[in-house]
Amino acid sequence: MASDRLKGRKAIVTGAASGIGAAVAARLAADGAQVFTADVQGAVDFTADLTGENANADLVAAAIARMGGLDTLVPCAGISAFCPLEGHDDAYFQRVLAVNLVAVFRLVRDAAPHLKAHGAGRIVTIGSTTSSYGDEGLCAYSASKHAVLGFTKSVAAELGPFGVTANCVQPGASDTPMTAPAFARMPEYRTFWEGKAPLRRLGQPQDIADVVAFLCSDDARFVSGHGMWVDGGAMARH
Ligand code: NAD
Repeated sequence: MASDRLKGRKAIVTGAASGIGAAVAARLAADGAQVFTADVQGAVDFTADLTGENANADLVAAAIARMGGLDTLVPCAGISAFCPLEGHDDAYFQRVLAVNLVAVFRLVRDAAPHLKAHGAGRIVTIGSTTSSYGDEGLCAYSASKHAVLGFTKSVAAELGPFGVTANCVQPGASDTPMTAPAFARMPEYRTFWEGKAPLRRLGQPQDIADVVAFLCSDDARFVSGHGMWVDGGAMARH
């Protein structure tokens, strides 16, 4: 439910043209935040491939020029595909790491001075249940998502003294354009995840966005360094 709990907040959301990022941008705005959106496609405030060396520094500068400050980061941009280990060529592995990890690192690094100066900055990265477990066909993806969780914990340790919290939301299998091709090709994969979740369904972008908004809010002021499964209970069940 919309509120004014993020009134006065100034947020960057990447991957905001689609799926979870779009839902996060809408939810933060509904809670009163100013939101500066970025993506490589779609109608957003800043259009760029965020793997470019200076893309995240440029994004931070553009967001500050528009909003007059910056205190909240939600890097949602990500890529995923199923690929067997022996089909992972170097370029594929490096591309997955570049989007899912290196771009997140650069955004957080380049925005850190502004979040520290604010005194109550918020960072919510998007991991995955594969930040905690592996899965067939997801070697590069799972490596990138494990790394994002570890990165987030270290950021929490380093920026905590400046009042900045950093948490990693770990969605379970969710209904988005990212997963649509795999679910269409392997309907049994969709059925498996629906059945594994005690709540008996896939995640929807809104399920994830609502938790992100909580972690960006003052209600979560003492939550930091946390990896949080948002997966209908799937990973808690053997
Ligand atoms: P999505 O494909 O709907 O959205 C991802 C967005 O990221 C797209 O708009 C895409 O254009 C953008 N993007 C990709 N590469 C980019 C780049 N180089 N520069 C800028 N933008 C780029 O996918 P989604 O499911 O909404 O995924 C959002 C996040 O959630 C991702 O980090 C993903 O790994 C994570 N996640 C998704 C699921 C799921 O089941 N859908 C599960 C766990 C985690």
